[in-house]
Amino acid sequence: MMEIKILEGFLEKTAPKNIAEEWDNVGLLLSGSGDIQKVLICLDISVAVVEEAIEKGADMIISHHPLIFKGIKRVTNENPLGSKLISLIKNNISVYAMHTNFDLAFGGLNDILFDKLLLSKKENLMKENESGYALGRVGVFSESVTLGELVQFIKGQINLKAVKFTGDRNKKINKAAIATGSCSNYNMFAECLAKNCDVYITSDIKHHEALDALEMGLCLIDATHYGTEFIMVAELAKRLKNFSNDNDLGLVVMESEKNQPIFDYI
Ligand SMILES: [Zn+2]
Repeated sequence: MMEIKILEGFLEKTAPKNIAEEWDNVGLLLSGSGDIQKVLICLDISVAVVEEAIEKGADMIISHHPLIFKGIKRVTNENPLGSKLISLIKNNISVYAMHTNFDLAFGGLNDILFDKLLLSKKENLMKENESGYALGRVGVFSESVTLGELVQFIKGQINLKAVKFTGDRNKKINKAAIATGSCSNYNMFAECLAKNCDVYITSDIKHHEALDALEMGLCLIDATHYGTEFIMVAELAKRLKNFSNDNDLGLVVMESEKNQPIFDYI
């Protein structure tokens, strides 16, 4: 059992709320019990995840994507968000989001992906803000790889069924830029080129952006939104388990099994 304040303190240290983007909505979004025994960690709080939390007796769900993001005018069973909130409140389940603050944090999502892809010589991709936090990372691989080999490697490292990419698969890749989630935009492309990156690994890349980037000399790998971000679940679970063990708090930490990728491929 852990007091919710202690858990919030750990999460705040992991990803300080004040570093989140202005438009974001992070931290405790729904408060249930004051004492937490079981935590379920996920990327998205889908209907299946709410059911999973109830079934497994979780007192809190920690997600990357905020369940409540825009204004809500009514909470009814007429839409999925309303039904989820009603179920969560009825079952006394708290909800905590660590979103752009976890993207930016030291040791946050971008650093987790950096390590997963076995990159080294880390630099920030974008310029740091006043507090020293920056979006995206740049690094090099220990051995020289071709674009095709790199795509295969990423596919295995983050468990993807298929990977969309642009560029000549025989091109030698020396330097790569990464940004987790939906970070396909011209500012990022320009920064990748300014830092001499051969490839940019992100997700949610659109047709016209991809064509422009390719013609500017930058290869793109769309490692999917789910693929680049679901990796936070195992890593956060590991850190939270260690924190609970080190402090003898007896918290049960569960990784969601129902938070599956949204897209399928044939
Ligand atoms: Zn995301």
